Amino acid sequence: MEVALRTIISKLWDYQQAILEIARLNRELKTYPDSIKSLEKSVSVIEESLKRTKSELDVNKANQKKKEEYLELCKSNLEKSESKLMEVTNQKDYSAVLNEIDYAKKEILETEEKLIAILESIERNEKNIEQFEKSLKEKQEELSKALEEFNTTKKGQIEKRENLLEKKKKLEQDIPVRYLKRFYEIAKKRNGVGVAMVEKDETCSACHMKIRPQKINEMKKNPDHIYTCENCQRILVIIDDENI
Ligand SMILES: [Zn+2]
Repeated sequence: MEVALRTIISKLWDYQQAILEIARLNRELKTYPDSIKSLEKSVSVIEESLKRTKSELDVNKANQKKKEEYLELCKSNLEKSESKLMEVTNQKDYSAVLNEIDYAKKEILETEEKLIAILESIERNEKNIEQFEKSLKEKQEELSKALEEFNTTKKGQIEKRENLLEKKKKLEQDIPVRYLKRFYEIAKKRNGVGVAMVEKDETCSACHMKIRPQKINEMKKNPDHIYTCENCQRILVIIDDENI
């Protein structure tokens, strides 16, 4: 027994909806949310700052060690010069040793000043590192939560797409080939949309042009016939009689 044309038309409509929904899901599955992109950016910015500050700290610590060693050297030189001072016997040597002592004292003072500046830098570095590590941890947690949510949504969308593909395949078996062919002929020329619905306001859902009332009456009276929109030539379908 031949299937009623109205059933075929209604299946064509379902077929059309499945195709559009599959396309929409494909687009969604391809796009990576901006919120995740921006979180990833934040994480990498903080990681960069953390890395930079850690290497600054390394340099400062190496400088600290150098200055401390130099300070020790200056202090021991000062001690040596001071004890030398007791042993010198002439004025010339005495002045030379005094100069050595002055120089050592000056160096000690300068080195201590530099050392203080380095220690302040180290303190700043350590404080910043602590702050960066804290922010990094927070952002990473936020990111992994967002990724988890995204993957859950993605899983749902993939499942939905699977079901729609299944439905599409079944409809392809149900709809006689000549109607499928006709559908694709129209869809090819009309942005992939071959079937349109008669809206409540008696317009075509695809091109929004008014449909003649006589045509709508005819469609209701004799539903086992293919009607097309006079403007866009798409196959017209009345989804729910009570709507119009
Ligand atoms: Zn139309």
